[in-house]
Amino acid sequence: MELLREQGIVDLAVLRAFDLTPRHLFVPSGIRHRAYEDNALPIGNGQTISQPSTHARYLELLKLTGTERVLEIGTGSGYQTVLVSHLAEQVFSIERVAPLLESARVAIRAAGARNVSLLAGDGTLGWREYAPYDAILVTAGSPDVPEPLLRQLAEGGRLLAPLGERDAQVLTLVIRRGDALERRAIAPARFVPLIGRHGWSAE
Ligand code: SAM
Repeated sequence: MELLREQGIVDLAVLRAFDLTPRHLFVPSGIRHRAYEDNALPIGNGQTISQPSTHARYLELLKLTGTERVLEIGTGSGYQTVLVSHLAEQVFSIERVAPLLESARVAIRAAGARNVSLLAGDGTLGWREYAPYDAILVTAGSPDVPEPLLRQLAEGGRLLAPLGERDAQVLTLVIRRGDALERRAIAPARFVPLIGRHGWSAE
């Protein structure tokens, strides 16, 4: 993972998660030769698998220790889901595009992750059954944090989401402190839109 070290990723647990997760399992066969580039790649249905260094930054910011229950909105290829599975106790991941979720399910199984639960549906509603979550990561851009996700964030919990316009956002970290929510802008970001009841409308 020399590439990630060069990008300034220093968290050893995060680097180990990348070592344990073969990205080629999550990339369509026609572009598999590009799986180890530090680039976002198309995964079908107009969606992308994000750049590895973007995943790595997300994961460093979540500061996972291995005991957490994590909710991911936007399973996509399932790659980040498996990275998180190496850093947390249990991962719950929701994807709105059913065929993507089915491909992700196969790839996640092939990667050997056992502590992952998947749901097809609108992730802006969260997954109430297993709440609260110690960390929530939203992997698509929305105008603001969907209200149900804030309600499902545990005390001290960390939520990461790209917030802003449909085609340009700011990666934002939200930390719950009692009834208060501390917000920190991290960096400019550009993600596909979060489409759902508390996100953007489909066009
Ligand atoms: N992290 C993923 C990976 O490793 O492949 C890439 C995620 S991709 C940038 C964003 C995903 O969010 C897309 O698969 C998209 O279909 C999904 N998405 C968009 N709106 C959603 C919603 N309301 N609920 C669940 N998933 C959603």
